[in-house]
Amino acid sequence: MAQPRTRDKVTPSFYLKTFGCQMNKHDSDSVSQILLNEGYRQSQAIEDAQIILINTCAVRQKAEDKALTLIGRLAPLKQKNPDLITGVLGCVAQNQGVDLLRRFPHLDLVIGPRNVHHIDELISKMRKERNKISSLDLTNGIYLFPKYNGYLKGKVTCFVKIMEGCDNFCSYCIVPFVRGRETSLPATTIIERAHQLVREGVREITLIGQNVNSYNVKDKAGPSFAGLLRALDQISGLQRLRFTTSHPKDLSDELIDLFGGLKTLCPHIHLPVQSGSNAVLRRMNRGYTAEQYRTLIKKLRRTRPDIAISSDMIVGFPGETEKDFQDSLRLIEEVEFDNLFSFRYSDRRGTKATGLPDKVVEAEKQERLSLLQERQRQITLAKNEFLEGTVQTVLEEGPAKHGGEQRSGRTPGNKVVNYVSTTDLTGALVRIKVIKGFQNSLFGEFVGLASTDPQ
Ligand code: SAM
Ligand code: SF4
Repeated sequence: MAQPRTRDKVTPSFYLKTFGCQMNKHDSDSVSQILLNEGYRQSQAIEDAQIILINTCAVRQKAEDKALTLIGRLAPLKQKNPDLITGVLGCVAQNQGVDLLRRFPHLDLVIGPRNVHHIDELISKMRKERNKISSLDLTNGIYLFPKYNGYLKGKVTCFVKIMEGCDNFCSYCIVPFVRGRETSLPATTIIERAHQLVREGVREITLIGQNVNSYNVKDKAGPSFAGLLRALDQISGLQRLRFTTSHPKDLSDELIDLFGGLKTLCPHIHLPVQSGSNAVLRRMNRGYTAEQYRTLIKKLRRTRPDIAISSDMIVGFPGETEKDFQDSLRLIEEVEFDNLFSFRYSDRRGTKATGLPDKVVEAEKQERLSLLQERQRQITLAKNEFLEGTVQTVLEEGPAKHGGEQRSGRTPGNKVVNYVSTTDLTGALVRIKVIKGFQNSLFGEFVGLASTDPQ
């Protein structure tokens, strides 16, 4: 452990840039909390920091390229200040390992996602030994929540990581290689953390993991995911529970039923489908068919008719024919997702899909993506316009992003709502009449406070 620094000693400041998904954001929050606990200061300006850390994403080539460009830009800063400490964290660090240290001689630290919670020790070691350090052990134990230090003060919503790694090996995906095998956090630790967050003012918790449906399935060391949700639902003061991501192959009837009865569980599910073609799903190693996926959607809507459903889709997977793509288009037309995150397939070195024949050319992938996204834009807009005139319960999160007198929050279905209000009701459930549905948000009128019952 690093020695706590006293006020009169110079406390180095760190700058942390994060790329990628909620897991990375969660990891970055942990890194910040650990360093703050150790007496470091957080800097908002890269030029002012004595330690620069970049938390990276390797899911697609574009994300990796962005991180590599930023790493390259650190060279002149290091030249100007040889005492500067530079570190790459996360999935690119794990994927490229010590090669990164060779390629970028100005880099000091390379730390994989399973080792970021040792950041303080690694920085201390590096400073003491004046040597470059890599920490890439994928079997390293699961992350533990850092001691609470007021870092989340004023926050109404919060992610809580309940699992690390993934065992699914979807053929296109780098995650199992960079985050290691699936490991579940003990339920007692999660519940204790949730209590702590609620005491600090958090009202909505989103449980995160690569496939939360398989929580504790492998280790059988505690409750199932449904059991965990039931336990968290008992926490007094917690208004809303969400989770992501759910793998369709592991979505149990027990979990679907909770959408019909659990008071805090919000009516929204992110259920990535990836393709509407059975041939492509098979080659992706997804473990379900398009028909089985449609059946899950029907069950979810039967249990909770107002449930909002979002998904992920990949276009241009190796061997994807025009007919396969039409199957994907047909699926999104039928299911009518509230929101869809869609991507061009990106080759990831080391994954099975890189070796598959019949790669789709980039121009074709782009054309398919544009078609899919255009159709989805219409569906999303229609869904949002459908809410016009309804009164929604919104958990107020604070001022709207674009400022003015507007405040902002989310509906139970996870749609952002902006509304004019001069009273700060952060953390309260308010009733908002939806005036206008836009592509990415709703605009509404403040009606009054909602009851304090969850959701
Ligand atoms: N664990 C989650 C799941 O099973 O859906 C999400 C993992 S991944 C970080 C998020 C999304 O990125 C995936 O759902 C998939 O659509 C997309 N993705 C992953 N690998 C990809 C690749 N090689 N090319 C394009 N998109 C990819
Ligand atoms: Fe990647 Fe599949 Fe695991 Fe999701 S479930 S992280 S897409 S391997």
